Amino acid sequence: MTNEQSWRLGFFFSILVIMMLLEWQLPARKSPIKSSKRWLANFGLVFVSSVIARLTVPIGLTAVAFYNEEHSIGLFNVMSLPSFVVITLSLFILDIVIYWQHRLFHQIPILWRLHRVHHADAHVDTSTGLRFHPLEIVLSIIIKLIIVSAFGVPAIAVLIFEITLNGLALFNHANIRLPQVIEKPLRLLLMTQILHRIHHSQRVSETNSNYGFSVIWWDKLFGSYKDSAQKSDSELAIGLTDYPDAKQNSSLLSLLLLPFKK
Ligand SMILES: [Zn+2]
Repeated sequence: MTNEQSWRLGFFFSILVIMMLLEWQLPARKSPIKSSKRWLANFGLVFVSSVIARLTVPIGLTAVAFYNEEHSIGLFNVMSLPSFVVITLSLFILDIVIYWQHRLFHQIPILWRLHRVHHADAHVDTSTGLRFHPLEIVLSIIIKLIIVSAFGVPAIAVLIFEITLNGLALFNHANIRLPQVIEKPLRLLLMTQILHRIHHSQRVSETNSNYGFSVIWWDKLFGSYKDSAQKSDSELAIGLTDYPDAKQNSSLLSLLLLPFKK
């Protein structure tokens, strides 16, 4: 295992364990589906998606970034800007791209077919933050490869971005409700759990808001920010009305086949 992989996995598992412990001790909502059943399907999908992504795009994003640096490919690699400027700009660019990618996955019907696997979950917790169809993961990697190569994003920025984005996705999907004294100031900058649950509401106008996984800036800037839903956080109906029966989306196979169903 490379140094990079151990950093990524180390961060990933630490945040996952912390979030799951918090969910166990301070759950915000009760799951309408048996947790063991959901987790088997959600974590099963994470495993299948990772294997498929690895086989489809066997080269890592940071390896591509290193190659670009060596061969002067991409905007930043032909300019001579200080490295902290390049890293900062790279993080902003990648985050805006992920915001728009998420938004387009909601707006373009064929992409929504893939992304609805994530939204069909009738409960939101840490495992939902990882529940993405393998094709959505592969498309996302390809988009990031294009951006990294076009801008010449340095490998260190790719690593910081991937670790942070992954950690924040686990954080804002967690089934917890932070105390108001923490949540209020935090939501001035970050997408908190309460804000992200609005994105998982069954009301379409609410689903089509709060696309950011990290900061709230892009939603504010591009007019998709919603600070509250019609219902309170504890009463919010989560999931998709098209998939009211929790049972139908609780097996790994049904999740894999969901994009191809009517
Ligand atoms: Zn979404």
